[in-house]
Amino acid sequence: MNLRIPGPTPLPPDVLLAVGQQMINHRGAAFERLFGEVSAWLKLFFETEQEVYVLTSSGTGAMEASIANTLSPGDRVLAVSCGSFGDRYDEIARAYRADVTSLKFALGQAADPEVIARAVREQGPFQAVILTHNETSTGVLNDVQAIAAAIRAAADPAPLIMVDSISGLGGVRLQMDAWGVDAVITGSQKAWMAPPGLAMIALSQRAWQAYETAQNPRYYFDLGLARRYLARHQTPSTPALPALYGLHASLRRMAEEGVEAIAARHRALAAHCRQRALDLGLGLYAQEGRYSPTVTALTLPDGVKPNDVLKALVAQYDIHAGSSKDPRVGVIRIGHMGHCSIADLDAVFAALAELLSGEISAASR
Ligand SMILES: *Cc1c(COP(=O)(O)O)cnc(C)c1O
Repeated sequence: MNLRIPGPTPLPPDVLLAVGQQMINHRGAAFERLFGEVSAWLKLFFETEQEVYVLTSSGTGAMEASIANTLSPGDRVLAVSCGSFGDRYDEIARAYRADVTSLKFALGQAADPEVIARAVREQGPFQAVILTHNETSTGVLNDVQAIAAAIRAAADPAPLIMVDSISGLGGVRLQMDAWGVDAVITGSQKAWMAPPGLAMIALSQRAWQAYETAQNPRYYFDLGLARRYLARHQTPSTPALPALYGLHASLRRMAEEGVEAIAARHRALAAHCRQRALDLGLGLYAQEGRYSPTVTALTLPDGVKPNDVLKALVAQYDIHAGSSKDPRVGVIRIGHMGHCSIADLDAVFAALAELLSGEISAASR
């Protein structure tokens, strides 16, 4: 099987082996050693001096945690979106009764730092700006560094800047401290090459100050509790041990490869994917220059239906690519995050070449 959806992603052999280990006492010394190593390695990739909290939930849980821990009902939030995951963050803030101003960019386009800064200046003050780093639904990478700088230049004090990097971090760099990002969120099943079931989140000092006065309800996702437990390398409730074994094994190999080397490898894989697509006469959905290093959204020739191609890829080649998350976006999505090789991508394009020269395009003519 060639699993090319943008998460969950395939596990490398050593990670797969680690996942099958026997359970241990999550209040014992072996766990504390493992969790301590995971925390230290995660700080490397979050590029922060802050602690990184590992929650047992999918990535969405950490998005919810960022809202629950820093905001109060009625707080004004600017929700920046250029796709369905940006919309999800917007919906979570609304679910917690934030007073949300939605700033939506066209699908396939990146969020424009200047437009965001203008909204902050003219429609603020906001308690927080929430946004997506890598919009998985359209294959767009937002320039978080430029966006954070523009927000800071537009308001003093600046709103909290909270970023969903669920499909970015681990494959794309996000320098939390250097860029002044207040909350960074990611998920184990994307570029981290680990099983689904863990979300990771770090908060800046400013976000922790907001935590002290935030009135939103929180219990399972109370990061203050997570902070007290992390001090002794534990979690408040029972962690998803198999996923954590996997994350420990993947982080070991990732730390060895290095943060920039991994980012460069993802940029190269993405560039290769785009070139193969263009060679086949396919289109790239994302705005030029804002292509995601971890997932590529491809448009198909006129009349060829994405779902027909996806079904044929599974039936004839056992290749599993991503569908359009949003019905308005007519693409197939190729994930190339984590454990993915050039050969894995070449297999996809060899299959696409056969399909598009054969039945599928004939049927649509
Ligand atoms: C996958 C993804 C999510 C959702 O993560 P879950 O682990 O499924 O909750 C949110 N945002 C982005 C950008 C994603 O790629």
